[in-house]
Amino acid sequence: MTNDFDKGCSIYQSASAARDRGLFAEAMKLYDDALALLKPVVEAPLIICLYFDRALAQDLGGDSKLALRDFHRALSLYRELKYSHPGHDGVENLFPLICQIEEQIERMEKVLGQPDKGDYLDFIRPRRWPADRLPLTIYIDAEDEDFPELSSVLFNGFTIWNERTGILPCRLVESAVEASILVVKDPLFLGPAGGQTTYESFIDDDGVEWLLRAYIMIASVERSKVEALAAHEAGHALGLDGHSPHALDLMYFKSPLEEPSSRDIMTLKAIYS
Ligand SMILES: [Zn+2]
Repeated sequence: MTNDFDKGCSIYQSASAARDRGLFAEAMKLYDDALALLKPVVEAPLIICLYFDRALAQDLGGDSKLALRDFHRALSLYRELKYSHPGHDGVENLFPLICQIEEQIERMEKVLGQPDKGDYLDFIRPRRWPADRLPLTIYIDAEDEDFPELSSVLFNGFTIWNERTGILPCRLVESAVEASILVVKDPLFLGPAGGQTTYESFIDDDGVEWLLRAYIMIASVERSKVEALAAHEAGHALGLDGHSPHALDLMYFKSPLEEPSSRDIMTLKAIYS
């Protein structure tokens, strides 16, 4: 006999699976069913995660107002929990998620008061590759016995941007020393997202930031999510440091897209114009 908690967890999982398949209405109903089975105080950390996941379903499904409401719910519940039960299991574990929620709320509230400019340049820190570094040299260290094509999927994350913009050609190199961009799969890497991009750069007298090197760290992620992760991290490495406030862009902080949207393309082109 299963209890409400187990039932709630299982329905919660089905809800996120439906969302990942793009079935947003079904996901919403399942999130509501799961929520009704979870106990408010004891299971608060799980409810915070549920609000976050439901917010993503709403945002990806096209309702950013409802999404913003759920991101706020997750945040207030976390604050309540932190002050009323500071030692509650899970408060600390939730911290990386809460940072992502705070950042997304900030982006959503900022975009609400702005006319649509067709790009999200105001939301990122633009960094550029100098023209003499083209084509960009990319070194990939991502051996995976069970996924032999992983390296080519990761490289494709870059070519897909160049196919759409024509401004950042790339080529693979055999040695890390001669590479401008290094992509490394590290099974021990446990970032809040499946990947992380860091940079070496300098700022010239005109305030333009030029890239010298970029490093992409890839965690072990589900195979079905690698294409999206590769294209998203490539977008960071090509110069988009930050995230789009819009759920229908590849550079949204939790995008399932496998290629850039027109707004992503406009933003990258704006950096190099
Ligand atoms: Zn990102």
